[in-house]
Amino acid sequence: MKSLNAKEFKKKLISITSQDPALCYQCGKCSAGCPVRDFEEAPPNRIVRYVQLGLYEKAMTSSTIWLCAGCQTCTSRCPQQFDLAKFMDAVRELAIAYGVKSADKKTQEFHEAFLNQIENFGRAYEMGLLIDYKLKSKDFFQDVTLAPSTFSKGKLNLLPHMVKNKKQIKKIFKESGEVKK
Ligand code: SF4
Ligand code: SF4
Repeated sequence: MKSLNAKEFKKKLISITSQDPALCYQCGKCSAGCPVRDFEEAPPNRIVRYVQLGLYEKAMTSSTIWLCAGCQTCTSRCPQQFDLAKFMDAVRELAIAYGVKSADKKTQEFHEAFLNQIENFGRAYEMGLLIDYKLKSKDFFQDVTLAPSTFSKGKLNLLPHMVKNKKQIKKIFKESGEVKK
């Protein structure tokens, strides 16, 4: 993991999300509505609390950030208009930028493989995602029995369908990478 101090982490987080984690007063309304709460090791509001207390490593290593589905239920329920879904996304991206490995390694590898497809093709490319994820996780046989039926239903295209303006997508990734540096 690259070295980072709490002040620097918070500064980057605020710069990415344009909101201060201090806004959150820990009412827990977000976590009460979170659809994946039963699977998270810590409720989403606790991740915000970690950051408020300067415990950024705890925030970045928690499997909660990787289980977050980005559904925005928390964001719509927050009485402080704190965009927790955006916050979670930023913590995930900082964890990747700082080389932090989550306890939930496979979800992190899937996330990275998925983003690689968006960066390269501008949209999800299932075959590319599959290959990238398998190479990262080395889990070559998981769900292999599903391959023939997925193929026959046309869910796995051999070639990607690219967006027209791929340059714009690359630019977005480049600029978001600059913010994280
Ligand atoms: S609902 Fe908003 S203020 Fe309440 S704990 Fe969640 S993020 Fe914080
Ligand atoms: S965006 Fe993430 S943290 Fe918020 S309610 Fe959905 S799954 Fe839970």
